[in-house]
Amino acid sequence: MQGMMMNRPLSIISILDYAAEAHPDSGIVSVRTEGDTHRTTYRDTYKRVGKLAHALEKLGVKPGDRVATLAWNGYRHFELYYAISGMGAVCHTINPRLSAEQMIYIVGHAEDKVIFVDTTFLPILEALRDHLPADLRIVVMTDRDHLPDTKLDVLVYEDLLDGEPETYDWPDLDENTAAGLCYTSGTTGNPKGALYSHRSTVLHALMVAAVMGGALGQGVNVLPVVPLFHVNAWGLPYAGPILGINLVMPGPALDGPSVYKLMDSENVYSAWGVPTVWMGLLGEIEKQGKPPKGFGDVVIGGSAAPRTMIEAFEKMGINVNHAWGMTEMSPIGTHGVSPPAVDDLPFDKKIDVKAKQGRRVFGVDLKIVDDDGNRQPHDGKAIGELFVRGNAIVSGYYKNEEASAKAIDAEGWFGTGDVASIDPDGYLTIQDRSKDLIKSGGEWISSIDLESAALAHPGIANCAAIGVAHPKWDERPVLVAVAAGEDKPSLDEIRETMAEHFAKWQLPDDVIWVDDLPLTATGKVSKLNLRQQLSDYKHPEVA
Ligand code: ADP
Repeated sequence: MQGMMMNRPLSIISILDYAAEAHPDSGIVSVRTEGDTHRTTYRDTYKRVGKLAHALEKLGVKPGDRVATLAWNGYRHFELYYAISGMGAVCHTINPRLSAEQMIYIVGHAEDKVIFVDTTFLPILEALRDHLPADLRIVVMTDRDHLPDTKLDVLVYEDLLDGEPETYDWPDLDENTAAGLCYTSGTTGNPKGALYSHRSTVLHALMVAAVMGGALGQGVNVLPVVPLFHVNAWGLPYAGPILGINLVMPGPALDGPSVYKLMDSENVYSAWGVPTVWMGLLGEIEKQGKPPKGFGDVVIGGSAAPRTMIEAFEKMGINVNHAWGMTEMSPIGTHGVSPPAVDDLPFDKKIDVKAKQGRRVFGVDLKIVDDDGNRQPHDGKAIGELFVRGNAIVSGYYKNEEASAKAIDAEGWFGTGDVASIDPDGYLTIQDRSKDLIKSGGEWISSIDLESAALAHPGIANCAAIGVAHPKWDERPVLVAVAAGEDKPSLDEIRETMAEHFAKWQLPDDVIWVDDLPLTATGKVSKLNLRQQLSDYKHPEVA
């Protein structure tokens, strides 16, 4: 028997339509590439999104067309998210930190019709122009007064909106219509496209709002440092308007002092981003002697939050929410919103819980399997490859049959490439990416655990543990580290700090000091790059 309920399709534009009416005075604060701070409401944003949809139509954008963005977090980028998907086209966010080769590949692969670009990134397009399709239209996201000199044939964003009507007759789309496209960073091989639908995007927004929304209601200020140009800024551009929170968009300035200043002046309560950003912010908090005004909550994900970072925030009374996910999951898979009982635990025990990657969000199922695909128990001990299934997880990759076939197992689950355990209380612990695990004498060592333990030494500002080839043990761990001050600690001192968490054979054999760690396009430490840099490394015993 079928239920007797209306079958209204889930649609992205309905989120903004709702926010304009239910949270009309909440909205978006943006640090602009023009150099000033811009403020708007969801009510006014909805009107500009209507104008933008008309403008897109005049540019010849048709339902199903891919429209690219190459932009920082800001209100115009937010408008594009809604106008492009709302009219039935596909918003293809491009990560400006990708290599030229990758960018050329994805613009070609996505067959973008138009690209919207922030002034900052115009030089990237100028350099690539000859390799991009000749009919690709370029729109610069500014007004005519701020348009930089360029040899490119460009249109100007504000000119396009000028004079267009504020209302648009949004089409009733099938909820499975494609709405967004985001390519993985492709550390090996070409980037692969995750093609989100209206349905998956709205459900994901509701999933995020359901768990993260607790303290984030109407009028609360939230800072997505996580970019709109990758992984949908963890769903905040969609969950935000549903909840009626204000989004504080940082634009290009993502260093510690800039983030601190913005948070302090805008009274940001909750800030979301990857650990490298929070390292910068913690450095600035130390300099200032106090956290930014009103700061009470930080969401850390994208790579493992080191234990010392979680401790530092929690000691200041700032709640840490350690989340895990990936591009292919829209992206949130688990969250670290802890039940009140965790807050009542002794400090060390509380940090033990927060250092895990949290519990699954509704709409995501987790399983871990051994090498033969057999399910492993969720007992906190068994470790296996993590597979996921759910309402906002890819069923394959855009126009890539080979990668799609490999991605999904016989039971229809997506293989994350992460190695994990799940404890009886439902907490996920990511041990490592399978390609980053260090294999020594047939035993695995988690690079994440090594890094977290080494960072407890005050002489280390940042570090990465990687496996280097060893004739006897196959691989041995070495630490690549950035010193916190002038005096670099010795290897023995570092090993001593780490010793309580590891067997002796698991400790790193060497420490290599560097000025900076190489980062990936998503702001994570690039172990691939480090492994390449150390390809000639001679192990101390073997040298
Ligand atoms: P890429 O960086 O290649 O674009 P994603 O941004 O989709 O890919 O990153 C997904 C991966 O990041 C996960 O598979 C996992 O390895 C890692 N990751 C994300 N969050 C965490 C976390 N909290 N702890 C450990 N690893 C994480």
